[in-house]
Amino acid sequence: MNWKWKRNDRSRLTLPLELAIILPAATLILVSVLHLRSIHQDRAVEAAIERDFNQVLSIGEKRMNLEAYELLDDIRLRFPAPGEACSVTLDTLLASHPYAAHAFLYDPKHGMVFRSRPLRLRDPDFREESMDLQKMMGEWMKLEYEGLVEKMSKQEKKGIPYLAFANWVPRGEKRAYQSVALFLKHDPSGGDTAIGGIAFDAEYLRETFFPEVVDTVLVHGSTEAQAEKNQAVLILHPRGEPYPLAASADWDGGVPEVEHNLEAVFPGITLGIKLRGTTMEALGRHFMISSFLVLGGLSLLLSGGIWLTFRNVSRQMELARLKSDFVSNVSHELRTPLSLIRLYAETLEMGRVNDEEKREEYFRIIRKESERLSAMINNILDFSRIEAGRKEYDFRETNIADLVRNTLESYRYQIEQHGFTFEEEIADDLPRLRVDREAIARSLLNLVNNALKYSADDKFLRVSLYRENGSVKLEVLDHGIGVPRGEQRKIFEKFYRAGDPMVHNTKGSGLGLSLVRHIVEAHQGEIRVDSVPGQGSRFVITLPIHPPAPDGAQAA
Ligand code: ADP
Repeated sequence: MNWKWKRNDRSRLTLPLELAIILPAATLILVSVLHLRSIHQDRAVEAAIERDFNQVLSIGEKRMNLEAYELLDDIRLRFPAPGEACSVTLDTLLASHPYAAHAFLYDPKHGMVFRSRPLRLRDPDFREESMDLQKMMGEWMKLEYEGLVEKMSKQEKKGIPYLAFANWVPRGEKRAYQSVALFLKHDPSGGDTAIGGIAFDAEYLRETFFPEVVDTVLVHGSTEAQAEKNQAVLILHPRGEPYPLAASADWDGGVPEVEHNLEAVFPGITLGIKLRGTTMEALGRHFMISSFLVLGGLSLLLSGGIWLTFRNVSRQMELARLKSDFVSNVSHELRTPLSLIRLYAETLEMGRVNDEEKREEYFRIIRKESERLSAMINNILDFSRIEAGRKEYDFRETNIADLVRNTLESYRYQIEQHGFTFEEEIADDLPRLRVDREAIARSLLNLVNNALKYSADDKFLRVSLYRENGSVKLEVLDHGIGVPRGEQRKIFEKFYRAGDPMVHNTKGSGLGLSLVRHIVEAHQGEIRVDSVPGQGSRFVITLPIHPPAPDGAQAA
Protein backbone atom coordinates (compact mmCIF):
# COMPACT_ATOMS: atom_id res chain seq x y z
CA MET A 1 0.00 0.00 0.00
CA ASN A 2 2.81 2.23 0.86
CA TRP A 3 4.55 1.41 -2.39
CA LYS A 4 1.38 2.21 -4.31
CA TRP A 5 1.04 5.49 -2.51
CA LYS A 6 4.57 6.46 -3.44
CA ARG A 7 4.09 5.48 -7.05
CA ASN A 8 0.89 7.49 -7.48
CA ASP A 9 2.50 10.29 -5.66
CA ARG A 10 5.52 10.29 -7.91
CA SER A 11 3.51 10.25 -11.11
CA ARG A 12 1.32 13.01 -9.69
CA LEU A 13 4.46 14.98 -9.08
CA THR A 14 6.27 14.29 -12.33
CA LEU A 15 3.35 14.76 -14.69
CA PRO A 16 2.79 18.50 -14.05
CA LEU A 17 6.55 18.97 -13.87
CA GLU A 18 6.98 17.32 -17.24
CA LEU A 19 4.09 19.23 -18.75
CA ALA A 20 4.79 22.59 -17.19
CA ILE A 21 8.58 22.76 -17.18
CA ILE A 22 10.41 19.94 -18.90
CA LEU A 23 8.27 19.91 -22.04
CA PRO A 24 8.51 23.67 -22.80
CA ALA A 25 12.18 23.71 -21.83
CA ALA A 26 13.00 20.75 -24.06
CA THR A 27 10.96 22.26 -26.89
CA LEU A 28 12.75 25.57 -26.47
CA ILE A 29 16.15 23.89 -26.60
CA LEU A 30 15.17 21.73 -29.57
CA VAL A 31 13.75 24.68 -31.52
CA SER A 32 16.90 26.70 -30.79
CA VAL A 33 19.14 23.86 -31.95
CA LEU A 34 17.11 23.43 -35.15
CA HIS A 35 17.11 27.18 -35.70
CA LEU A 36 20.87 27.36 -35.25
CA ARG A 37 21.33 24.39 -37.57
CA SER A 38 19.25 26.05 -40.24
CA ILE A 39 21.27 29.25 -39.80
CA HIS A 40 24.38 27.12 -40.25
CA GLN A 41 23.04 25.26 -43.29
CA ASP A 42 21.72 28.38 -45.03
CA ARG A 43 24.95 30.20 -44.19
CA ALA A 44 22.63 32.91 -42.90
CA VAL A 45 25.34 34.79 -41.02
CA GLU A 46 27.52 34.99 -44.12
CA ALA A 47 24.51 36.01 -46.20
CA ALA A 48 23.65 38.78 -43.75
CA ILE A 49 27.21 40.13 -43.83
CA GLU A 50 27.20 39.89 -47.62
CA ARG A 51 23.95 41.86 -47.81
CA ASP A 52 25.47 44.45 -45.54
CA PHE A 53 28.61 44.62 -47.65
CA ASN A 54 26.65 44.99 -50.88
CA GLN A 55 24.83 47.89 -49.32
CA VAL A 56 28.11 49.52 -48.27
CA LEU A 57 29.48 49.10 -51.79
CA SER A 58 26.48 50.63 -53.54
CA ILE A 59 26.54 53.52 -51.08
CA GLY A 60 30.24 53.83 -51.93
CA GLU A 61 29.56 53.99 -55.63
CA LYS A 62 26.84 56.58 -55.14
CA ARG A 63 29.16 58.77 -53.10
CA MET A 64 31.92 58.52 -55.70
CA ASN A 65 29.54 59.47 -58.48
CA LEU A 66 28.01 62.34 -56.52
CA GLU A 67 31.38 63.80 -55.69
CA ALA A 68 32.61 63.35 -59.26
CA TYR A 69 29.40 64.99 -60.61
CA GLU A 70 30.03 67.97 -58.38
CA LEU A 71 33.55 68.37 -59.76
CA LEU A 72 32.37 67.85 -63.35
CA ASP A 73 29.38 70.23 -63.00
CA ASP A 74 31.71 72.95 -61.81
CA ILE A 75 33.71 72.78 -65.02
CA ARG A 76 30.81 72.01 -67.40
CA LEU A 77 28.83 75.05 -66.36
CA ARG A 78 31.80 77.33 -66.97
CA PHE A 79 32.62 75.75 -70.31
CA PRO A 80 32.66 78.21 -73.24
CA ALA A 81 29.85 77.95 -75.74
CA PRO A 82 30.51 76.35 -79.12
CA GLY A 83 32.34 78.93 -81.19
CA GLU A 84 33.76 80.65 -78.14
CA ALA A 85 36.07 77.81 -77.28
CA CYS A 86 39.73 78.59 -77.85
CA SER A 87 43.02 77.77 -76.21
CA VAL A 88 42.75 80.73 -73.86
CA THR A 89 39.28 79.99 -72.52
CA LEU A 90 40.04 76.29 -72.02
CA ASP A 91 43.46 77.01 -70.43
CA THR A 92 41.79 79.38 -67.96
CA LEU A 93 39.29 76.68 -67.13
CA LEU A 94 42.02 74.08 -66.58
CA ALA A 95 44.01 76.52 -64.46
CA SER A 96 41.10 77.02 -62.09
CA HIS A 97 40.26 73.27 -61.87
CA PRO A 98 43.43 71.39 -61.00
CA TYR A 99 41.69 67.95 -60.99
CA ALA A 100 41.16 68.16 -64.76
CA ALA A 101 44.04 67.13 -67.03
CA HIS A 102 42.45 67.83 -70.44
CA ALA A 103 39.45 69.72 -71.70
CA PHE A 104 38.03 69.74 -75.19
CA LEU A 105 35.05 70.84 -77.24
CA TYR A 106 33.93 69.61 -80.61
CA ASP A 107 31.25 70.51 -83.05
CA PRO A 108 31.27 69.88 -86.76
CA LYS A 109 31.14 73.61 -87.58
CA HIS A 110 34.08 74.75 -85.47
CA GLY A 111 36.02 71.48 -85.29
CA MET A 112 37.94 70.25 -82.25
CA VAL A 113 39.52 72.51 -79.62
CA PHE A 114 41.65 70.36 -77.29
CA ARG A 115 43.78 71.70 -74.45
CA SER A 116 45.93 69.94 -71.87
CA ARG A 117 47.35 71.39 -68.67
CA PRO A 118 50.26 73.41 -70.20
CA LEU A 119 52.79 73.04 -67.38
CA ARG A 120 52.46 69.27 -67.26
CA LEU A 121 53.15 68.89 -70.99
CA ARG A 122 56.85 68.93 -70.19
CA ASP A 123 56.41 65.45 -68.77
CA PRO A 124 56.82 62.98 -71.68
CA ASP A 125 54.22 60.55 -70.26
CA PHE A 126 51.69 63.33 -69.96
CA ARG A 127 52.52 64.60 -73.43
CA GLU A 128 51.95 61.11 -74.83
CA GLU A 129 48.70 60.90 -72.87
CA SER A 130 47.61 64.25 -74.28
CA MET A 131 48.45 63.37 -77.87
CA ASP A 132 46.79 59.96 -77.65
CA LEU A 133 43.61 61.36 -76.23
CA GLN A 134 43.49 64.27 -78.66
CA LYS A 135 43.93 61.91 -81.59
CA MET A 136 41.42 59.44 -80.29
CA MET A 137 38.80 62.11 -79.58
CA GLY A 138 39.37 63.86 -82.92
CA GLU A 139 38.76 60.68 -84.89
CA TRP A 140 35.92 59.46 -82.71
CA MET A 141 34.03 62.74 -82.76
CA LYS A 142 34.22 63.00 -86.53
CA LEU A 143 32.84 59.51 -86.88
CA GLU A 144 30.37 59.33 -84.05
CA TYR A 145 29.25 62.90 -83.43
CA GLU A 146 25.67 62.39 -84.56
CA GLY A 147 25.20 59.14 -82.67
CA LEU A 148 26.82 60.50 -79.53
CA VAL A 149 24.67 63.63 -79.51
CA GLU A 150 21.55 61.56 -79.91
CA LYS A 151 22.54 59.17 -77.13
CA MET A 152 23.60 61.92 -74.75
CA SER A 153 20.47 64.00 -75.39
CA LYS A 154 18.40 61.04 -74.24
CA GLN A 155 20.56 60.64 -71.18
CA GLU A 156 20.42 64.34 -70.47
CA LYS A 157 16.62 64.11 -70.38
CA LYS A 158 16.95 61.42 -67.73
CA GLY A 159 19.04 63.80 -65.65
CA ILE A 160 22.47 62.28 -66.34
CA PRO A 161 24.40 64.77 -68.44
CA TYR A 162 27.63 62.75 -68.60
CA LEU A 163 28.92 59.82 -70.59
CA ALA A 164 32.20 58.52 -69.18
CA PHE A 165 34.76 56.01 -70.36
CA ALA A 166 37.94 54.64 -68.84
CA ASN A 167 41.26 55.69 -70.30
CA TRP A 168 44.48 53.94 -69.23
CA VAL A 169 47.33 56.42 -69.63
CA PRO A 170 51.08 55.67 -69.76
CA ARG A 171 53.17 56.17 -66.61
CA GLY A 172 56.61 54.70 -67.32
CA GLU A 173 56.21 50.95 -67.65
CA LYS A 174 52.73 51.00 -66.18
CA ARG A 175 49.40 52.56 -66.98
CA ALA A 176 47.31 54.78 -64.78
CA TYR A 177 43.53 55.06 -64.62
CA GLN A 178 41.78 58.11 -65.93
CA SER A 179 38.14 58.75 -66.48
CA VAL A 180 37.02 60.91 -69.38
CA ALA A 181 33.56 62.44 -69.17
CA LEU A 182 31.69 63.76 -72.21
CA PHE A 183 28.72 66.14 -72.10
CA LEU A 184 26.70 68.29 -74.44
CA LYS A 185 27.22 72.02 -74.71
CA HIS A 186 24.38 73.91 -76.33
CA ASP A 187 24.85 77.30 -77.93
CA PRO A 188 22.43 79.61 -76.15
CA SER A 189 22.00 81.87 -79.19
CA GLY A 190 22.05 79.50 -82.14
CA GLY A 191 21.07 75.89 -82.40
CA ASP A 192 24.60 74.48 -82.35
CA THR A 193 25.34 71.61 -80.04
CA ALA A 194 28.91 70.76 -79.23
CA ILE A 195 30.35 67.79 -77.33
CA GLY A 196 32.51 68.86 -74.46
CA GLY A 197 34.86 66.65 -72.53
CA ILE A 198 37.00 66.64 -69.41
CA ALA A 199 39.62 64.06 -68.50
CA PHE A 200 40.28 63.64 -64.79
CA ASP A 201 43.90 64.01 -63.84
CA ALA A 202 45.20 60.42 -63.25
CA GLU A 203 47.42 61.53 -60.35
CA TYR A 204 44.57 63.43 -58.70
CA LEU A 205 42.36 60.36 -58.86
CA ARG A 206 45.07 58.06 -57.53
CA GLU A 207 46.43 60.28 -54.79
CA THR A 208 43.45 62.30 -53.64
CA PHE A 209 40.05 61.32 -54.92
CA PHE A 210 40.12 57.53 -54.55
CA PRO A 211 41.84 57.40 -51.13
CA GLU A 212 39.38 59.97 -49.74
CA VAL A 213 36.40 58.06 -51.05
CA VAL A 214 37.70 54.75 -49.69
CA ASP A 215 38.22 56.31 -46.27
CA THR A 216 34.87 58.04 -46.03
CA VAL A 217 32.63 55.29 -47.42
CA LEU A 218 33.21 52.99 -44.45
CA VAL A 219 32.66 55.67 -41.87
CA HIS A 220 29.24 56.46 -43.32
CA GLY A 221 28.28 53.16 -44.86
CA SER A 222 29.24 50.48 -42.38
CA THR A 223 26.93 49.07 -39.78
CA GLU A 224 27.83 49.47 -36.13
CA ALA A 225 28.76 45.84 -35.69
CA GLN A 226 31.33 45.92 -38.44
CA ALA A 227 32.72 49.27 -37.46
CA GLU A 228 33.30 48.05 -33.95
CA LYS A 229 34.94 44.70 -34.00
CA ASN A 230 35.64 43.15 -37.34
CA GLN A 231 36.28 46.33 -39.17
CA ALA A 232 35.68 46.08 -42.86
CA VAL A 233 38.26 47.33 -45.32
CA LEU A 234 37.82 48.56 -48.90
CA ILE A 235 39.83 48.27 -52.06
CA LEU A 236 39.50 49.86 -55.50
CA HIS A 237 41.10 47.89 -58.29
CA PRO A 238 40.95 47.68 -62.09
CA ARG A 239 38.23 45.31 -63.20
CA GLY A 240 39.63 41.80 -63.41
CA GLU A 241 43.01 42.74 -62.00
CA PRO A 242 43.83 42.39 -58.33
CA TYR A 243 46.33 45.20 -57.78
CA PRO A 244 44.90 48.14 -55.82
CA LEU A 245 44.27 51.61 -57.19
CA ALA A 246 43.44 52.65 -53.65
CA ALA A 247 42.70 50.80 -50.42
CA SER A 248 41.74 51.53 -46.80
CA ALA A 249 44.71 52.43 -44.64
CA ASP A 250 44.44 49.14 -42.73
CA TRP A 251 43.96 46.94 -45.77
CA ASP A 252 45.61 43.63 -44.83
CA GLY A 253 46.05 42.05 -48.26
CA GLY A 254 44.05 39.10 -49.51
CA VAL A 255 41.06 39.01 -51.79
CA PRO A 256 37.91 41.10 -51.35
CA GLU A 257 34.90 38.96 -50.40
CA VAL A 258 32.22 41.07 -52.05
CA GLU A 259 32.78 43.18 -55.17
CA HIS A 260 30.88 45.76 -57.12
CA ASN A 261 31.79 46.88 -60.65
CA LEU A 262 31.55 50.62 -60.95
CA GLU A 263 29.63 52.29 -63.75
CA ALA A 264 28.63 55.91 -64.45
CA VAL A 265 31.68 58.15 -63.86
CA PHE A 266 34.27 55.45 -63.15
CA PRO A 267 33.75 52.53 -65.49
CA GLY A 268 36.39 49.82 -65.67
CA ILE A 269 37.15 49.67 -61.99
CA THR A 270 35.80 47.58 -59.14
CA LEU A 271 35.11 48.41 -55.51
CA GLY A 272 35.74 45.47 -53.19
CA ILE A 273 35.24 44.89 -49.47
CA LYS A 274 36.40 42.33 -46.92
CA LEU A 275 36.72 41.90 -43.17
CA ARG A 276 40.04 42.82 -41.67
CA GLY A 277 41.88 39.91 -40.06
CA THR A 278 39.10 37.42 -40.62
CA THR A 279 36.68 36.08 -43.21
CA MET A 280 32.91 35.94 -43.41
CA GLU A 281 33.13 32.16 -43.12
CA ALA A 282 35.25 32.36 -39.96
CA LEU A 283 32.83 34.89 -38.53
CA GLY A 284 29.90 32.61 -39.33
CA ARG A 285 31.71 29.69 -37.71
CA HIS A 286 32.51 31.76 -34.66
CA PHE A 287 28.87 32.81 -34.37
CA MET A 288 27.75 29.19 -34.59
CA ILE A 289 30.23 27.99 -31.98
CA SER A 290 29.43 30.75 -29.51
CA SER A 291 25.69 30.31 -30.05
CA PHE A 292 25.93 26.58 -29.40
CA LEU A 293 28.05 27.23 -26.31
CA VAL A 294 25.52 29.73 -24.96
CA LEU A 295 22.71 27.31 -25.73
CA GLY A 296 24.62 24.50 -24.01
CA GLY A 297 25.15 26.70 -20.94
CA LEU A 298 21.50 27.68 -20.87
CA SER A 299 20.42 24.08 -21.21
CA LEU A 300 22.65 23.14 -18.30
CA LEU A 301 21.19 25.94 -16.18
CA LEU A 302 17.70 24.91 -17.18
CA SER A 303 18.36 21.26 -16.33
CA GLY A 304 19.90 22.32 -13.02
CA GLY A 305 16.83 24.41 -12.25
CA ILE A 306 14.49 21.57 -13.16
CA TRP A 307 16.50 19.16 -11.04
CA LEU A 308 16.41 21.53 -8.07
CA THR A 309 12.67 22.07 -8.48
CA PHE A 310 12.13 18.34 -8.76
CA ARG A 311 14.17 17.68 -5.65
CA ASN A 312 12.41 20.38 -3.72
CA VAL A 313 8.96 19.22 -4.71
CA SER A 314 9.96 15.60 -3.95
CA ARG A 315 11.03 16.66 -0.48
CA GLN A 316 7.80 18.49 0.13
CA MET A 317 5.83 15.49 -1.06
CA GLU A 318 7.89 13.20 1.15
CA LEU A 319 7.26 15.50 4.12
CA ALA A 320 3.56 15.53 3.34
CA ARG A 321 3.62 11.73 3.22
CA LEU A 322 5.50 11.54 6.52
CA LYS A 323 3.03 13.93 8.11
CA SER A 324 0.06 11.88 6.99
CA ASP A 325 1.75 8.70 8.29
CA PHE A 326 2.38 10.56 11.51
CA VAL A 327 -1.25 11.51 11.97
CA SER A 328 -2.47 7.96 11.44
CA ASN A 329 0.27 6.50 13.68
CA VAL A 330 -0.36 8.96 16.47
CA SER A 331 -4.11 8.55 16.45
CA HIS A 332 -3.61 4.83 16.58
CA GLU A 333 -1.11 5.12 19.41
CA LEU A 334 -3.40 7.34 21.42
CA ARG A 335 -6.33 5.07 20.98
CA THR A 336 -4.64 1.92 22.29
CA PRO A 337 -3.73 3.14 25.81
CA LEU A 338 -7.03 4.98 26.05
CA SER A 339 -9.08 1.88 25.34
CA LEU A 340 -6.96 -0.15 27.77
CA ILE A 341 -7.44 2.43 30.51
CA ARG A 342 -11.14 2.53 29.84
CA LEU A 343 -11.47 -1.22 29.76
CA TYR A 344 -9.65 -1.76 33.09
CA ALA A 345 -11.30 1.22 34.76
CA GLU A 346 -14.76 -0.04 33.76
CA THR A 347 -13.97 -3.52 35.00
CA LEU A 348 -12.82 -2.10 38.34
CA GLU A 349 -15.81 0.20 38.54
CA MET A 350 -18.23 -2.66 38.16
CA GLY A 351 -16.62 -4.19 41.28
CA ARG A 352 -16.25 -7.56 39.63
CA VAL A 353 -12.62 -8.00 40.52
CA ASN A 354 -12.36 -9.35 44.04
CA ASP A 355 -8.85 -10.67 43.87
CA GLU A 356 -6.60 -8.02 45.46
CA GLU A 357 -3.60 -9.01 43.37
CA LYS A 358 -5.55 -8.68 40.13
CA ARG A 359 -6.89 -5.32 41.19
CA GLU A 360 -3.38 -4.12 41.80
CA GLU A 361 -2.37 -5.46 38.44
CA TYR A 362 -5.23 -3.53 36.80
CA PHE A 363 -4.29 -0.36 38.60
CA ARG A 364 -0.70 -0.77 37.50
CA ILE A 365 -1.79 -1.22 33.89
CA ILE A 366 -3.92 1.89 34.11
CA ARG A 367 -1.02 3.86 35.56
CA LYS A 368 1.45 2.50 33.00
CA GLU A 369 -0.85 3.21 30.06
CA SER A 370 -1.58 6.71 31.30
CA GLU A 371 2.17 7.27 31.68
CA ARG A 372 2.66 6.08 28.11
CA LEU A 373 -0.15 8.40 27.03
CA SER A 374 1.29 11.41 28.79
CA ALA A 375 4.81 10.63 27.48
CA MET A 376 3.41 10.60 23.99
CA ILE A 377 1.39 13.76 24.49
CA ASN A 378 4.45 15.42 26.00
CA ASN A 379 6.44 14.47 22.93
CA ILE A 380 3.82 15.91 20.63
CA LEU A 381 3.48 19.10 22.69
CA ASP A 382 7.24 19.53 22.82
CA PHE A 383 7.44 19.00 19.12
CA SER A 384 4.79 21.58 18.39
CA ARG A 385 6.51 24.06 20.72
CA ILE A 386 9.80 23.47 18.94
CA GLU A 387 8.16 23.86 15.54
CA ALA A 388 6.56 27.12 16.65
CA GLY A 389 9.89 28.29 18.14
CA ARG A 390 8.33 28.55 21.61
CA LYS A 391 10.12 25.73 23.44
CA GLU A 392 11.76 26.97 26.61
CA TYR A 393 14.21 25.12 28.83
CA ASP A 394 14.57 25.41 32.55
CA PHE A 395 18.29 24.90 33.25
CA ARG A 396 19.20 24.01 36.87
CA GLU A 397 22.24 22.65 38.65
CA THR A 398 21.55 18.94 38.69
CA ASN A 399 23.07 15.76 39.95
CA ILE A 400 22.92 14.04 36.62
CA ALA A 401 23.62 10.58 38.07
CA ASP A 402 20.54 10.85 40.30
CA LEU A 403 18.45 12.12 37.44
CA VAL A 404 19.38 9.16 35.22
CA ARG A 405 19.04 6.63 38.05
CA ASN A 406 15.55 7.87 39.04
CA THR A 407 14.35 8.02 35.45
CA LEU A 408 15.46 4.45 34.81
CA GLU A 409 13.98 3.28 38.10
CA SER A 410 10.53 4.41 37.06
CA TYR A 411 10.94 2.48 33.85
CA ARG A 412 12.73 -0.60 35.18
CA TYR A 413 9.58 -2.64 35.65
CA GLN A 414 8.53 -2.08 32.05
CA ILE A 415 12.00 -2.97 30.79
CA GLU A 416 12.12 -6.17 32.68
CA GLN A 417 8.54 -7.02 31.74
CA HIS A 418 9.61 -6.86 28.11
CA GLY A 419 12.08 -9.61 28.95
CA PHE A 420 15.19 -7.44 28.61
CA THR A 421 18.52 -8.02 30.23
CA PHE A 422 19.16 -4.61 31.70
CA GLU A 423 22.50 -3.19 32.78
CA GLU A 424 22.97 0.20 34.36
CA GLU A 425 26.50 1.66 34.63
CA ILE A 426 26.66 5.03 36.33
CA ALA A 427 30.08 6.46 37.18
CA ASP A 428 30.76 8.00 40.63
CA ASP A 429 32.93 10.97 39.69
CA LEU A 430 30.32 12.94 37.78
CA PRO A 431 30.13 16.71 38.19
CA ARG A 432 26.89 18.59 38.59
CA LEU A 433 25.51 19.86 35.31
CA ARG A 434 23.14 22.65 34.43
CA VAL A 435 20.35 20.90 32.58
CA ASP A 436 16.62 20.93 32.07
CA ARG A 437 15.76 17.85 34.10
CA GLU A 438 12.49 17.04 32.46
CA ALA A 439 13.95 17.40 28.98
CA ILE A 440 16.95 15.18 29.73
CA ALA A 441 14.73 12.56 31.36
CA ARG A 442 12.47 12.63 28.32
CA SER A 443 15.44 12.18 26.01
CA LEU A 444 16.63 9.17 27.97
CA LEU A 445 13.17 7.64 27.97
CA ASN A 446 12.86 8.13 24.23
CA LEU A 447 16.15 6.30 23.67
CA VAL A 448 15.26 3.49 26.09
CA ASN A 449 11.80 3.15 24.63
CA ASN A 450 13.30 2.89 21.12
CA ALA A 451 15.70 0.18 22.30
CA LEU A 452 12.71 -1.77 23.61
CA LYS A 453 10.69 -1.20 20.46
CA TYR A 454 13.40 -2.04 17.95
CA SER A 455 14.88 -5.19 19.46
CA ALA A 456 13.87 -8.62 18.22
CA ASP A 457 15.16 -11.80 19.92
CA ASP A 458 18.35 -10.56 21.55
CA LYS A 459 16.79 -8.38 24.23
CA PHE A 460 19.60 -6.52 25.82
CA LEU A 461 19.78 -2.94 27.10
CA ARG A 462 22.61 -1.10 28.75
CA VAL A 463 22.50 2.50 29.88
CA SER A 464 25.87 4.01 30.82
CA LEU A 465 26.68 7.42 32.23
CA TYR A 466 30.33 8.40 32.38
CA ARG A 467 32.74 11.26 32.03
CA GLU A 468 35.03 11.65 29.03
CA ASN A 469 37.10 14.51 27.56
CA GLY A 470 35.47 17.38 29.42
CA SER A 471 31.95 16.11 28.90
CA VAL A 472 29.44 13.71 30.36
CA LYS A 473 28.20 10.93 28.11
CA LEU A 474 24.88 9.19 28.34
CA GLU A 475 24.91 6.02 26.31
CA VAL A 476 22.00 3.70 25.44
CA LEU A 477 23.03 0.41 23.86
CA ASP A 478 20.88 -2.41 22.52
CA HIS A 479 21.28 -5.59 20.49
CA GLY A 480 18.31 -4.74 18.31
CA ILE A 481 17.67 -4.46 14.60
CA GLY A 482 20.13 -1.58 14.08
CA VAL A 483 19.98 1.28 11.60
CA PRO A 484 21.52 1.04 8.10
CA ARG A 485 24.37 3.50 7.52
CA GLY A 486 22.42 5.42 4.86
CA GLU A 487 19.63 6.17 7.34
CA GLN A 488 21.70 7.00 10.41
CA ARG A 489 21.48 10.75 9.79
CA LYS A 490 17.89 10.74 8.60
CA ILE A 491 16.44 9.09 11.75
CA PHE A 492 17.07 12.39 13.59
CA GLU A 493 14.83 14.26 11.14
CA LYS A 494 11.23 14.86 12.11
CA PHE A 495 8.72 12.18 11.07
CA TYR A 496 11.44 9.99 9.62
CA ARG A 497 11.09 6.27 10.28
CA ALA A 498 13.53 3.73 8.85
CA GLY A 499 12.47 1.40 6.06
CA ASP A 500 12.86 -1.82 8.10
CA PRO A 501 9.61 -3.86 8.13
CA MET A 502 9.86 -4.20 11.89
CA VAL A 503 9.76 -0.44 12.24
CA HIS A 504 6.59 -0.27 10.23
CA ASN A 505 4.97 -2.94 12.33
CA THR A 506 5.84 -0.98 15.45
CA LYS A 507 3.89 2.04 16.46
CA GLY A 508 5.70 5.33 16.42
CA SER A 509 5.45 8.91 15.31
CA GLY A 510 9.00 9.55 14.05
CA LEU A 511 9.26 12.46 16.48
CA GLY A 512 11.29 10.98 19.36
CA LEU A 513 14.82 11.28 17.99
CA SER A 514 14.21 14.71 16.46
CA LEU A 515 13.12 15.89 19.90
CA VAL A 516 16.16 14.30 21.55
CA ARG A 517 18.44 16.03 19.07
CA HIS A 518 16.76 19.37 19.71
CA ILE A 519 17.03 18.99 23.47
CA VAL A 520 20.68 17.92 23.31
CA GLU A 521 21.59 20.80 21.03
CA ALA A 522 19.85 23.23 23.39
CA HIS A 523 22.30 21.93 26.01
CA GLN A 524 25.22 22.68 23.64
CA GLY A 525 25.71 18.96 23.35
CA GLU A 526 25.44 16.46 20.54
CA ILE A 527 23.92 13.10 19.79
CA ARG A 528 25.26 10.42 17.52
CA VAL A 529 24.53 6.83 16.68
CA ASP A 530 26.81 3.86 15.98
CA SER A 531 24.88 1.00 14.58
CA VAL A 532 25.24 -2.20 12.58
CA PRO A 533 22.01 -3.58 11.15
CA GLY A 534 21.14 -6.86 12.82
CA GLN A 535 23.63 -6.34 15.63
CA GLY A 536 22.40 -3.36 17.56
CA SER A 537 22.72 0.35 18.11
CA ARG A 538 24.54 2.65 20.46
CA PHE A 539 23.08 6.14 20.91
CA VAL A 540 25.42 8.52 22.73
CA ILE A 541 24.39 11.90 24.11
CA THR A 542 27.37 14.14 24.89
CA LEU A 543 26.75 17.00 27.35
CA PRO A 544 29.54 19.53 27.90
CA ILE A 545 30.53 20.08 31.54
CA HIS A 546 31.17 23.78 30.87
CA PRO A 547 28.86 24.79 28.06
CA PRO A 548 30.28 27.69 26.03
CA ALA A 549 27.06 29.73 25.95
CA PRO A 550 25.81 31.66 29.00
CA ASP A 551 23.42 29.64 31.10
CA GLY A 552 19.81 30.36 32.01
CA ALA A 553 16.57 29.56 30.35
CA GLN A 554 16.68 29.85 26.64
CA ALA A 555 14.18 29.83 23.91
CA ALA A 556 14.49 27.12 21.32
P1 ADP B 1 9.62 6.40 16.27
O1 ADP B 1 10.33 5.44 17.17
O2 ADP B 1 8.37 6.96 16.84
O3 ADP B 1 9.44 5.85 14.90
P2 ADP B 1 12.02 8.03 16.58
O4 ADP B 1 12.28 9.42 16.14
O5 ADP B 1 12.18 7.72 18.01
O6 ADP B 1 10.55 7.68 16.05
O7 ADP B 1 12.95 7.08 15.75
C1 ADP B 1 13.10 7.27 14.38
C2 ADP B 1 13.47 5.96 13.69
O8 ADP B 1 14.79 5.60 14.07
C3 ADP B 1 12.66 4.79 14.10
O9 ADP B 1 11.46 4.73 13.35
C4 ADP B 1 13.57 3.65 13.82
O10 ADP B 1 13.53 3.32 12.46
C5 ADP B 1 14.94 4.20 14.11
N1 ADP B 1 15.43 3.85 15.43
C6 ADP B 1 15.41 4.62 16.56
N2 ADP B 1 15.97 3.98 17.60
C7 ADP B 1 16.36 2.77 17.14
C8 ADP B 1 17.03 1.66 17.72
N3 ADP B 1 17.36 1.64 19.01
N4 ADP B 1 17.29 0.59 16.94
C9 ADP B 1 16.93 0.58 15.65
N5 ADP B 1 16.31 1.60 15.03
C10 ADP B 1 16.03 2.69 15.76
